[in-house]
Amino acid sequence: MHPEDRDYVVNFCVAQSQAGVDHEADYRALTKDNGYVWIRDVVHVVRKPDGQVEALIGFMFDITERKKTEEKLLALQKELEALSFKDGLTNIANRRRFNSAIELEWDRARKAGTPLSVLMLDIDFFKQYNDLYGHIQGDECLINIAQTLSLALENPRDLVARFGGEEFIILLPGADAATALKVAERCQRLIQKQAIAHAQSPHDQRVTLSIGVGTSTPGGYAKPADFIDAVDQRLYAAKKNGRNRIEVV
Ligand code: GH3
Ligand code: MG
Ligand code: MG
Repeated sequence: MHPEDRDYVVNFCVAQSQAGVDHEADYRALTKDNGYVWIRDVVHVVRKPDGQVEALIGFMFDITERKKTEEKLLALQKELEALSFKDGLTNIANRRRFNSAIELEWDRARKAGTPLSVLMLDIDFFKQYNDLYGHIQGDECLINIAQTLSLALENPRDLVARFGGEEFIILLPGADAATALKVAERCQRLIQKQAIAHAQSPHDQRVTLSIGVGTSTPGGYAKPADFIDAVDQRLYAAKKNGRNRIEVV
């Protein structure tokens, strides 16, 4: 028997046999050439008419192939789970991932009495960008911006996600208002440095972002959704006030 399986399987099978109970166990059996096969050992208790144990009959099945399939399935399941939290185009987190992260961080912040900040970012005049340069280049612009925004984050629990079409959202656990504003400014600076041409943009003929920023302290908003709404309204205000700007709740 494979050394890792030996103790558990032997103890289990001996105990079951002594108790006179049918049982089965899976383990790795060593082969002559120092490999191993997966075995399912099925043990049946045969009793005399008066109920006394007469014999144990064991069957051993080679379940190596089945185990391989199970392992493959498990790996696929993990991959699928990872994919379900990723945005297919930009490869950053998706909205589902953000939603689950903010639920977790919201609770954490409340218990620890620490603040939490959120940035909502929307590309300015992106419909015109698509019209001007085509959808493929539009996609490339989205990928570029997603990667650039990822560079603006410093803490391991910070998260940037694609919220929808040309909208992104950043979660900053533990960040107060001043820190959140700094991150928003860093985002704009990094995007400015990318200098993505947009002939129809009034802002230097470059692609720009409008950003809404909000900070919640425990007891501030009842639910994450209300908080996000307030941040979204600031993003809307940034658009109304001329775009390429930051508005804070
Ligand atoms: P505003 O400055 O007010 O934000 O204007 P806007 O044009 O950026 O906003 P609007 O909501 O009018 O248009 C968003 C555009 O984003 C329209 C849509 O075609 C484009 N878009 C959304 N998702 C994708 C995508 O996955 N790829 C590409 N290439 N374009 C996308
Ligand atoms: Mg938008
Ligand atoms: Mg837009």
